[in-house]
Amino acid sequence: MLGTGTSMPSLRRGSSSCLLTTKRQKILIDIGPAVVRRLLECGHSVTDIDAVAVTHFHVDHTADLSTFLFACNYGKEVRTKPLTIIGGPGVRRFYSGLNKIYRWVAPKSYNLSIVTMKRDVLQLDGLAIETFPVNHNRESIGIRVQERRAVAFTGDTAHSKSLVKLAAGVDLLVAECSFPFRAMKGHLNLEALDRIVREARPKRVILTHLDPEWDDFKGVLHAPYLLGEDGMTVSF
Ligand SMILES: [Zn+2]
Ligand SMILES: [Zn+2]
Repeated sequence: MLGTGTSMPSLRRGSSSCLLTTKRQKILIDIGPAVVRRLLECGHSVTDIDAVAVTHFHVDHTADLSTFLFACNYGKEVRTKPLTIIGGPGVRRFYSGLNKIYRWVAPKSYNLSIVTMKRDVLQLDGLAIETFPVNHNRESIGIRVQERRAVAFTGDTAHSKSLVKLAAGVDLLVAECSFPFRAMKGHLNLEALDRIVREARPKRVILTHLDPEWDDFKGVLHAPYLLGEDGMTVSF
């Protein structure tokens, strides 16, 4: 868990990002502000990453994409490994917008593929990446990755049938739970997440996208829930 926070500035939690590592691949799920630095703190570099998947285009999920791409061109090691960027409808337009503002982000020494997904499956070097539309922004997707085990990332979302399908029976669900109790349109709280967990039955659930209100949470979370923290590693 590179960042377990939201758009609210917090010293405890960086903006949204997870790094999924498999035997052959490293995939970044969301790339909010300062995630590139967090990658280094966790012992990785921008040139290691095979794919960056963004669940939607809000700033707290994408701000460091330009930092990442810039570093691929002008970092200590120049990137040669191909890079895949995955996003919902509009991801090409989003990337070309970045390119207009920051022309230095266009790849200099490697191949870049941009893949638009909504309700789709992509095979990436033996990994099945499946996406489901979720209820937040027009382009919002939840991402499920399956090798021997399955992990799903909700991105920001409210409840939907599609979200339940995304999470159905996974070994690990990385779920947004913006607030413990407060209800906000397009987001989940503990009660709303509990409903999804009862319907989808994931084996373990890590809570992320945690507003600073969580800092005052005095309750106890029971299995299958685990409160996410920046720098936390979960093997499954
Ligand atoms: Zn967010
Ligand atoms: Zn959002």
